[in-house]
Amino acid sequence: MRPFTDDRILITGAGSGLGRLISRKLVEAGAVVGGIDLAAEPLEQLAAELAPGRFAWAAADVTDRAALLAGVRRLETAVGPFDRLIACAGIGRATPADAFASADFEDVIRVNLIGVANSVEAVLPGMIARKKGHIVALSSLASFRGLPKMAAYCASKSGVNALLDALSIELRPHGIRVTTVCPGWVRTPMTARLGDALPHMLEPEDAVRRILAAVARKQRFVAFPNPTATLVRILRWLPPAMSDWVLQRQIKRAMGNAKLDEMAGP
Ligand code: NAD
Repeated sequence: MRPFTDDRILITGAGSGLGRLISRKLVEAGAVVGGIDLAAEPLEQLAAELAPGRFAWAAADVTDRAALLAGVRRLETAVGPFDRLIACAGIGRATPADAFASADFEDVIRVNLIGVANSVEAVLPGMIARKKGHIVALSSLASFRGLPKMAAYCASKSGVNALLDALSIELRPHGIRVTTVCPGWVRTPMTARLGDALPHMLEPEDAVRRILAAVARKQRFVAFPNPTATLVRILRWLPPAMSDWVLQRQIKRAMGNAKLDEMAGP
């Protein structure tokens, strides 16, 4: 049997980019997907493109706990309890130090971190009761250390890693597995404004193939592509002053100073 056949999978951020393509691939692989996103229209459109009865959707903001829980309950009434969560909803926003605004910082943390926590809360009690489940969240290579102009995004994704690290150990005895996904740059609407000059940009098909391979194996952690994934691992473990120096040199070499001003995610 294929790994996703008749799996019921909740996907947040299903209206665009990686969440949308993951939803499509999983339905094609035989899963039943419940998609959540802010607006109804892209979800309605996706449902019309997919096999009838395999994609249910609800418009909800992942930062609004009550609305999200209500949306997930409606989806579970329609398709049954979810076996997996794939939390993709996220935003990228520049938070440069010379125009630092803690309100921007809060917005990013609320969607990228609290939104994941709210999504986990929506499915976890049921998974614990059924003694099985799989929680997956889209973090980022930006989670490994703070990057210029991306303080909030990096902090949000580091938080996602810590959240999933803790859950992984606590939930294993309950039969629930956890997968942290750390992609580098992927060509989606989130990165469209950054142009083509970003290093090692992946096409969404390539990224989603790697993500779903890790999800199918219930791999604990996946980071790609190399060599960027190896570089950020090294940056994390270097002494901080040396890590700063190496990173500045790498950014200059890869992008030039001008591009630094445009960095804002992922
Ligand atoms: P995207 O902008 O194409 O899709 C993000 C989706 O999340 C959108 O449909 C958006 O409406 C939804 N969303 C945003 N805020 C929401 C909210 N409050 N409630 C519900 N839905 C909300 O971006 P993407 O590139 O597909 O990103 C998907 C995930 O992958 C994000 O978590 C992102 O941080 C992560 N990621 C992306 C890249 C990249 O290069 N594209 C790299 C690493 C990680």
